[in-house]
Amino acid sequence: MTQATEVLVPTSPDEAAAAFGDGSGVTVIGGGTIVMPEITYGRLKVGKALLLGKAGLSGVSRNGGTVTIGAATPIADLVDLPPPLGPCAANVADGEIRAQATLGGNVCAGPGPDAPRGDLQGPLLALDATARSTGPGGERSEPLESFLDDRAGRLLLDVSFGEPAAGAFAALDYPHTHEYTVLAVSGARGADGAVRLAATGLADHARTLSGDPDAAASEVRLGDDALASGWYRQQVLPVLVRRVLADLEEAR
Ligand SMILES: Cc1cc2nc3c(=O)[nH]c(=O)nc-3n(C[C@H](O)[C@H](O)[C@H](O)COP(=O)(O)OP(=O)(O)OC[C@H]3O[C@@H](n4cnc5c(N)ncnc54)[C@H](O)[C@@H]3O)c2cc1C
Repeated sequence: MTQATEVLVPTSPDEAAAAFGDGSGVTVIGGGTIVMPEITYGRLKVGKALLLGKAGLSGVSRNGGTVTIGAATPIADLVDLPPPLGPCAANVADGEIRAQATLGGNVCAGPGPDAPRGDLQGPLLALDATARSTGPGGERSEPLESFLDDRAGRLLLDVSFGEPAAGAFAALDYPHTHEYTVLAVSGARGADGAVRLAATGLADHARTLSGDPDAAASEVRLGDDALASGWYRQQVLPVLVRRVLADLEEAR
């Protein structure tokens, strides 16, 4: 017998956190551009669906030099932000997907079966973003890097970062990708002058890079998928790192 899905539509962040609880048996739906096809094709069975669209978790706000972006913010609302986040957001899929897809869904998407996902993880790592989430043990804030390593069973509430002094984004342009990003590098120079780089399009989630173009390919795991081979990505990654470093230098 088919189990009916319980649909939860919280109208505030607190309600969303309460509805999520410890996350067991709950499927979070941001924009649904990944989840809905999974349900449609019968690959995902949902007991409780938590819809974030009305939970008051969307929007971009600034306080002093800190930018905070709610997890349910559509990617389309990020495209005009400065680099590296704005150009990376503009490079995600197409206009229809960007209007529907959310920052939270992008950051929390696991690797896709045929193509990398989670493009926004790259610029957010380069920006040294903090992730605020709730779940077992309650609310916590932590560097995005540790959230990405241990995000199962967490509801992402928002991300925040200090406005960078400069940013840059470079992606592999590849005509037959059906709008997925093959490989990309994001860079940011913080207010303290420190430069951070991160790559997406890897075999797992985004990773930070040391900034040495020749070492980049050995610092991450590059996979083969429907878009490109690991070998090809290995050749291109140093080029993208050099491009980002040059753009950051130019922005001085
Ligand atoms: C044609 C096409 C092209 C695409 N191109 C790209 C691309 O170029 N780059 C790219 O990165 N992706 C791409 N995608 C994949 C996808 O659309 C995006 O990653 C999108 O940002 C996912 O966001 P969403 O809100 O729709 O996620 P959803 O489908 O709502 O959720 C995705 C996952 O994240 C979880 N989730 C959602 N919100 C939260 C939250 N706040 N806290 C915890 N977990 C949460 C869900 O439970 C689910 O497991 C593409 C998809 C299509 C169909």
